[in-house]
Amino acid sequence: MRQLVGLIFIFIFFGSNAQETILYCGKIVDTKSGKVLLNKSIVISEDKILRIEDGFTNSNSENATVIDLKNKTVLPGLIDMHVHIEGETNPNRYLEAYTLNEADVAFKAAEIAERTLMAGFTTVRDLGGSGVNVALRNAINKGTTTGPRIFTAEKSLATTGGHADPTNGRSKELMGDPGPKEGVVNSVEDAKKAVRQRYKNGADWIKITATGGVLSVAKSGKNPQFTEEEITAIVTTAKDYDMKVAAHAHGDEGMQRAIRAGVKTIEHGTLMSDATMELMKQKKSYLVPTITAGKYVSDKAKIPNYYPAIIVPKALEIGPKIQNMFGRAYKKGVGIAFGTDAGVFPHGENGKEFGYMVEAGMPAMDAILSATTTNAMLLDMEGKIGVLETGAFADIIAVNEDPTENIKTMENVVFVMKSGKVYKK
Ligand SMILES: [Zn+2]
Repeated sequence: MRQLVGLIFIFIFFGSNAQETILYCGKIVDTKSGKVLLNKSIVISEDKILRIEDGFTNSNSENATVIDLKNKTVLPGLIDMHVHIEGETNPNRYLEAYTLNEADVAFKAAEIAERTLMAGFTTVRDLGGSGVNVALRNAINKGTTTGPRIFTAEKSLATTGGHADPTNGRSKELMGDPGPKEGVVNSVEDAKKAVRQRYKNGADWIKITATGGVLSVAKSGKNPQFTEEEITAIVTTAKDYDMKVAAHAHGDEGMQRAIRAGVKTIEHGTLMSDATMELMKQKKSYLVPTITAGKYVSDKAKIPNYYPAIIVPKALEIGPKIQNMFGRAYKKGVGIAFGTDAGVFPHGENGKEFGYMVEAGMPAMDAILSATTTNAMLLDMEGKIGVLETGAFADIIAVNEDPTENIKTMENVVFVMKSGKVYKK
């Protein structure tokens, strides 16, 4: 008994003297009220926010570190719901499938992860790669490499010849016949197997390519590519494993099938009709706009040989339409989850999306909420990320100006803390 009392005493003694960090915040974006508040102190202990106080608190613990952000605006770490952490656009992208080994991809991915974190994105959902994304997530969680929290879909699911069939565009000799193990499905049974395989491989989410896409070596960027039965099988199987489904979609028919089948997010949504917007509201699915990627591909398509010839007309047609559709969807009340498709454009420029959203008619605060509270909810991380409050992870960033006055400031994040550790100051 005496020993137990002693242990409790030691615990309390050391507990009260734990290393604290105090951030003096001139302005703070409170994502719970959707307001910018003045003069607050955030007290951090280990990886969590201990409390938030009015004014600039005097430290009562002698080993507290004070960080002065009095002339900055402080926000919760940002969340990007659509990145491809394993790679990045460049004119040799299509050749790289033949030249890079997995280790090359891994080193590149580690560098990209660090760049993403430095841009203020403390959490990302990775929507498709080769499996390096799972290893990267695990390494970051263990602290052996630096990067954001990652929720990953591992490998995207496609149909034969569809967007994300890994052997599109190859000679017949090199094409093979990939199946559910490689993420290619052609029946309800394949669909179940492919989802279970992703679970086994360590995925957190399931990603499908419900329609054609711009950057695959195939003709259509918008045709439906799964039957509704196949998507339903994917969604119901994913649910058994506590996973949700994200659907890449440009064309309206494929999008409708995916929403009816119960996918949680629609990626891009380029040619979305008014009827589909109503369906999204009814089914509570969210649009992940990726305006930055749309603009980037249509710009690069004008440079000769940047993309293979078959891609150019798709990029020119689809890319520029996303921002306008986004503006319509927002006005109609479709749920918006911030996401960029970084990797299609250079990683680290994710913050540009905010400016494009505001340009299309979304108020700056709503754009910020879409990148914080909304995405935290979709990732089942409500109260843990995307918010500055007691008990949340100390994922905290700062920008030079008040983003509700100048949204462009989101492109220049000057302070980054993740799990209580400062990465950029
Ligand atoms: Zn993508």
